[in-house]
Amino acid sequence: MSQSESDLTKIYLGHVISPLSSTAYLDFVQGALVVNGKGTIIDVAPWSEIQHKYISGNHINDSNVEIVDLGQRLILPGLVDLHLHLPQVSQTGRSGQHLLAWLNKYIFPAEARFSDTNHARKIANWFFDELAANGTTLAVVFTTIHKDATDAAFEVALEKGSRVIMGKVMMDANSPEALTEDTETSLRESEELAVKWHGQGDGLLLYAFTPRFGVTSTSELLAGVGRLFAKHPGTYVHTHLSEAKEEIQFVATQFPSARSYLDVYKSFGIIGKRTVFAHAIHLDDQDIKTVADTHSSLAHCPSSNFFLKSGVFLYAKICAAGCLFGLGSDVAAGPSMSLFNVMKDANYMQPDIWIEPPELLYRATLGGAKAAHLDHLTGSLTVGKEADFIVVDASRKSGIVDNILSQPTDEILSSLVFLGDDRLIEATYVRGRCIFHI
Ligand SMILES: [Zn+2]
Repeated sequence: MSQSESDLTKIYLGHVISPLSSTAYLDFVQGALVVNGKGTIIDVAPWSEIQHKYISGNHINDSNVEIVDLGQRLILPGLVDLHLHLPQVSQTGRSGQHLLAWLNKYIFPAEARFSDTNHARKIANWFFDELAANGTTLAVVFTTIHKDATDAAFEVALEKGSRVIMGKVMMDANSPEALTEDTETSLRESEELAVKWHGQGDGLLLYAFTPRFGVTSTSELLAGVGRLFAKHPGTYVHTHLSEAKEEIQFVATQFPSARSYLDVYKSFGIIGKRTVFAHAIHLDDQDIKTVADTHSSLAHCPSSNFFLKSGVFLYAKICAAGCLFGLGSDVAAGPSMSLFNVMKDANYMQPDIWIEPPELLYRATLGGAKAAHLDHLTGSLTVGKEADFIVVDASRKSGIVDNILSQPTDEILSSLVFLGDDRLIEATYVRGRCIFHI
C-alpha cells in the first residue's frame, strides 16, 4: 500500500444500522461511516450533520478524503460467527445421523485428509473466501489436528485479511487412528502455533487452544490445555460442551468424579474469559450460573442443533442469567455459513419465545463480539472501533418485497433476518480493507 493510500480517509454514504444493545440500534437512513487510513472508524452520523467537516459547496476539503456513495445500500457491522469448522466446509448437507455417528461417517474422514497440506491449503482458501462472501468479519474456528495444515490456514487468513480466532484441534482418545495424537505432541504443537500466530496481522489473528470435546480428550490433555491457557495471556480456549445426550453420557463415564460436563473443563482450569463453549444445550442451573459468574462464553448454534436434532438451547434462561453468548454456524453440522440463516433458525428453534430481529442482529454482531471479548474493536459501527462492516443490498434477493427500502427499519431488519442469505452481501470490509466485493 502506498503512503497516500494509507492516509486516505473514506466516507461511505448509505443507510447505517448498528446495534446498541439487544433491543436498540443506531439508525441513520442517510448516514455516513467515516474510516481513516488505518481502518479506524472516526465518524458515524447522519451525513447532513457532518458533511461540513469534509466538503465545502461541491468540493471535498482534503485531497486525502474520498466519498463512496452507496445509495440505498445498508451499511451494517460485519457478522460474527462464534463457532465453525474449516475442514468441514466441504461436508455440509450430509444428513441422517446424530452427532457421534455423523462424525464417524462424514467428518473424521474429511479431517484426516488434512495430513496433505496442499489439500488443506486449498480448502482454507475456499473457507476464507466463503466467510468473506457471507459477510463474516470475525470467526472462531476449528481446524484439524494437523500442525502444518493449521499453519497453512493462518497463512491464508493473513493473506486475505480475515479476522479469526483459530486453533489446531487436539484429540488424544477415542478417535480414529488417523486422528489420534500423542498427548505431549498435541500440547507442544499447539503451543508452538500459539507462540507463532497469536497477535499476528496486527492482532487480526488470535490463537485458541482447541480440544475437540470431552469424548476425545484424556485428563492429561485437558490439564495441559489448562496450563497453556494460563501461561499465554490473551489466548482462547474453544471447545464443544453438552451438545448431544450420547456425548454427555460418554463424558460422564470417562470423568466420573465431575459433577457435570462443564465441571470437567472447570476442574482443568478451562473456564473464564476467552473460553468459548459451542452448543451448551443441556446445562443445569448450576452450570448456567457458573458460565455467567466466570464470564465464559457460549456459541449458540441453532442451525446445527436443528440439523443433528441435538436439542434446544435454553435461550431465555441463559439470557436471564446474563451469560455472554452469540451465534455460530457450526459448519458443517450447520448447513450454511450465512449468519442470516443462523439468525432465522435461532428464532425458529425456540418453541415458546419469539426473538425479535434487532436482538437476532445483535447476537450476530455486537453480542458475538462481546462473547469473544473483542467488542472494544469490532461488533458495531462506533467511533474508535476498527471498521469491520458489510454493504448489504436488501433488494438483491428475490422474495424480499420491491419497496423494502422505503419501509421502516424494523421491517427491513425483519426481511434481512427471515429472508436473507449470502446473496445480500455486496461487500465485506475488515479494518477498513475490502476483503470481498461482488
Ligand atoms: Zn462444532
